[in-house]
Amino acid sequence: MSRTPLIAGNWKMHGTIEEAEERVAAVLPRIATLESVEHGVCVPFTALQAVVDSTRGSALKVFAQNMHYAPDGAFTGEISAPMLTELDVHGVLLGHSERRTLFGETDKALQLKVPAALDAGLEVILCVGETEDERENGDTERRLRHQVQEDLEKVPTERLGEITIAYEPIWAIGTGKVATAEQAQDALAFVRALVADRSKEQAERTRILYGGSMKPDNAAELLALPDCDGGLIGGASLDVEQIVAIIEAAARS
Ligand code: PEP
Repeated sequence: MSRTPLIAGNWKMHGTIEEAEERVAAVLPRIATLESVEHGVCVPFTALQAVVDSTRGSALKVFAQNMHYAPDGAFTGEISAPMLTELDVHGVLLGHSERRTLFGETDKALQLKVPAALDAGLEVILCVGETEDERENGDTERRLRHQVQEDLEKVPTERLGEITIAYEPIWAIGTGKVATAEQAQDALAFVRALVADRSKEQAERTRILYGGSMKPDNAAELLALPDCDGGLIGGASLDVEQIVAIIEAAARS
């Protein structure tokens, strides 16, 4: 089965509404003719509505960076799936390592968030990945197994293929360190095998992205890996030239 690659930019907590609109306005005409790749942006809450409105009718997919699992309730400071769909947001990034390590995101919460997002009609990008210590101690597969199994436990098997999983070695995020092609392929294939444990057919549909210091100079090698269906891009997604170069590399992969 062929899976259309997705290049998703994660803007994190960067930029004003005006900067967000300017960035997408600069990128979209440059990639308009590239049909064999999808582009998404994970936008701060404050700029979601503006980016949705200014890109309506384009192929850009607009994602939020987090979401609560409940549809509403006494959860001060949180945003729900119905609130995102009311904005016409396309999807949501869940379980980013910064949410896990800095804000106490748990696999138990993700187990509720992932199906809540799907049920609301949101496309999910679920992040998983090991720390440097876990890799050095030979615990990478144990960590990935735990995250994938736990976070997807309540997703009906026939919907597993709708989820995009971003494999992001935490030691490579924002550090300039990149997994070797062999490390990345081993982990991406392992994640696909974990989905295949529930359904081989769904595992063939599931998009698995690599994330962690993907840049124009290493994108082609990573995107060519057999189990790599795109990238989740942090730093380089804030720079128009760099993200366009990565999207072009994905279109050629
Ligand atoms: C990320 O934040 O998901 C990420 C991959 O960041 P960077 O590309 O900057 O390593």
